[in-house]
Amino acid sequence: MKDLEHTTGLLGALPPSETLGTLKKGILLAQQGVEVYMLSVGEPDFDTPDVIKEACADAMRRGMTKYTIPAGIGELREACAEKFRASGIDSTPEQIIITPGGKFACGGAIAALCGPGDEVILPVPYWVSHLHMIRASGAKAVFVPTFRENNFELTKEDLEKYVNERTRLVVLCSPSNPTGAVYRKTALEMLGNYAVEKNFMILSDEVYEALAYDEALPHIPIASLSPEINAHTVTINSFSKSYAMTGWRVGFLTAPMWLVRKIDALQTHLVANVTTFAQYGALTALRECGNECVKMKNAFKARRELFCSLLEKVPGLKFSRPSGAFYVFADISSYGLSSTEFCDRLMEEAHIAAAPGCGFGEDSFVRFSYACSDEVLKKSAALLADFCGKLLEEKRA
Ligand code: GLU
Repeated sequence: MKDLEHTTGLLGALPPSETLGTLKKGILLAQQGVEVYMLSVGEPDFDTPDVIKEACADAMRRGMTKYTIPAGIGELREACAEKFRASGIDSTPEQIIITPGGKFACGGAIAALCGPGDEVILPVPYWVSHLHMIRASGAKAVFVPTFRENNFELTKEDLEKYVNERTRLVVLCSPSNPTGAVYRKTALEMLGNYAVEKNFMILSDEVYEALAYDEALPHIPIASLSPEINAHTVTINSFSKSYAMTGWRVGFLTAPMWLVRKIDALQTHLVANVTTFAQYGALTALRECGNECVKMKNAFKARRELFCSLLEKVPGLKFSRPSGAFYVFADISSYGLSSTEFCDRLMEEAHIAAAPGCGFGEDSFVRFSYACSDEVLKKSAALLADFCGKLLEEKRA
């Protein structure tokens, strides 16, 4: 008899996402009537601006309910190309693909470019899904540790050590999920020029682009640095974090034409197109919601100050102030627990959902999202302080 249950196929052995796993655990606990503080998943607590919802509803009423061109409606692709050009990336509507979330843009680009025998440089800590997207493609992830003391950036020495003939791609995520680090211009120039010299591509995941808080560390799109670097980069963006549109699943990318054709072909088979009326909502976001975007950014910036000042009082927790995104990646090595043990107990005993660092390649870290209200941040920081104090006592006993 064939053992269907235990075969995995090419992709069936992937574990589920840790970030979405903690979201699920939190939702299930909340359904039992428990108040759960959701610091796990990276999701703005703001509602999508009304004008975006209206545009979507209006599109539906106007009958925009059929397939579109797989890469997306023309107006949205034009608007995305214009947005990229405004940030210094040379792009045309033909080079844009509207994807089901930034996730599919990353996964599609990796799958279209990499396969068995290829290597992808993955700086650690990494975002959970980048690793599994690489694995899904059949390529090998080459882990390269990065360090807080060096702003979690790849160095020239790292590249000289790990890049070889098999290197297809280097993953760059700035502002970073999970560390919140924003790459400095010198590090971007070094990486971009090395990609040109050695002829590999850069996957620049810029979904937190709108959330860089420090004037001294502005977000710089790597593809804006030179036409040659642009020719070696696929730049990924999304509406999820900037416009509070996580559930809409609309992302977009720009890449050199030869790569766009491959990703586009893949999307025609796996997705067809992003939900038609959602694309009209996204169009309105780009055209009309710049101010909303800035307001949300300012709110996240204020929450960063609040949350970091509260976390300073948590006994044994070590962290540095993030420059962007909305996460604090905190070192929990004082407590002698693995990140999963820490998060499971935190959920059970303090009803706080946090994402275990093991999913990001760092088992002595935990990721907290501060994309929540001030009240939730205050309450959860107080509970976290009690919980961590108790862990330290247990350890001493
Ligand atoms: N990207 C967000 C996070 O890291 C949302 C969940 C996910 O897609 O992983 O929490």
